[in-house]
Amino acid sequence: MTEPILSVRGLSVSYGRVQAVRDVTFDVPRGGLVTLVGANGAGKSSIINAISGVLRPSAGTVRFNGADTTRTPAHTLVRKGLVQVPEGRQILATLTIEENLQLGAWHTDGSRTAEVYERFPVLADRRTLLAGSLSGGEQQMLAIGRALVAEPSLMLLDEPSMGLAPRVVDEVFAVIEAIRASGTSVLLVEQNARRALRAADYGYVLSSGELVQSGPGDELLADEGIVAAYLGLERD
Ligand code: ATP
Repeated sequence: MTEPILSVRGLSVSYGRVQAVRDVTFDVPRGGLVTLVGANGAGKSSIINAISGVLRPSAGTVRFNGADTTRTPAHTLVRKGLVQVPEGRQILATLTIEENLQLGAWHTDGSRTAEVYERFPVLADRRTLLAGSLSGGEQQMLAIGRALVAEPSLMLLDEPSMGLAPRVVDEVFAVIEAIRASGTSVLLVEQNARRALRAADYGYVLSSGELVQSGPGDELLADEGIVAAYLGLERD
């Protein structure tokens, strides 16, 4: 069996005395699309940020591409191909679209930029405009584009559908599935559980900082007990 691109073992995250994540273990297979779903405050962002080196876990290990990266700083992980699309997009509104993409490609020759413009014509057409002039959905495409120019082998996406209209959510999920189809592994955390589980090969349900269920996305969705207990309030 080939080694997973990401292996998380016994991960815990604390903020002072608040334990936000407790003993979380899961893998992302190479080329896979795995999702962690859970309600607001379940600990999804804390897990993503601990994997990407943005924050330091209080216990557990993270292995990326066969190496222990638990204490590797975020910028080093980006160079190694682990790239995060942060919650709330975090684009730089007062820089142009082109400048945002240049920042994403800081450690490369920027050769993926043409591909990103091809994938997102709206960004190409408006490349000299300020990123703040884009709609919410377009800003999410820019955030994803900024991660793509960094040449990820594993992309971490933190609630990419947040605050977007259903039609735009469809577009974002189509982009995520295309990214995975092109060979990049994906770890997606989402509150929009139905949507995320439909897109993913495998899903984990997170509740109050702990993984409570896991399985193929369609099986989790077909389980009425899980849907009622954890996913019942999600919009379709
Ligand atoms: P959201 O959808 O709101 O981002 P989430 O599932 O991503 O939720 P986290 O943001 O990881 O959840 O938060 C998990 C828990 O940790 C919550 O109880 C939250 O209040 C707490 N928490 C998160 N960040 C901090 C912080 N910087 N200081 C203290 N507590 C925090």
